[in-house]
Amino acid sequence: MQVRTQSISRAEGAFLDIDLEISQEMLPIAFEGYVFKDHLTLKGKLVNEGNRLYRLSATLHVNFEGACARCLEPVRTGLDIDIREIFAPAGHEYLERLSKQAEETHVPDESIYEYQGHIIDFEQAVRDNIVLALPPRIVCRSQCKGLCPTCGQNLNHKQCDCSVDNPDEKVKSPFDRLKELL
Ligand SMILES: [Zn+2]
Ligand SMILES: [Zn+2]
Repeated sequence: MQVRTQSISRAEGAFLDIDLEISQEMLPIAFEGYVFKDHLTLKGKLVNEGNRLYRLSATLHVNFEGACARCLEPVRTGLDIDIREIFAPAGHEYLERLSKQAEETHVPDESIYEYQGHIIDFEQAVRDNIVLALPPRIVCRSQCKGLCPTCGQNLNHKQCDCSVDNPDEKVKSPFDRLKELL
């Protein structure tokens, strides 16, 4: 996930076209129960902003699979994530100013990533953006009926015989009954 910046390092406004395929193995963990499918693509531009700063403006496309929050069936879906990040060389005053700002306000309004020499690595920025963009839950379809809380039947497939009048009564375990008796 690295690019070399030599060719654009001397001219402010110069840019590199970014068109990278990122294998999902480069992302070390499954995020929040999601599993990535195929490779990820990162497409956009890396622009020389002057003062040794570079700005990445790109779209990250990810395909992933997770369990439906209602029926637990696997759901496969895709996401386009807009990425706007600044890259600064280690020790750059821009980094210090922003980390001071973050300390004071406790909310960094812009993420800055360090680079070394003439090589910029997008890995951390890509990972952070994925973590922020993944939805906390997905459903297989908006009308998903979910699972019966009593018998666990997937109600999208067939209706079960459990009463829907008083589901609370049905989910009580023998231990709850015991507690009531004590
Ligand atoms: Zn579902
Ligand atoms: Zn049931």
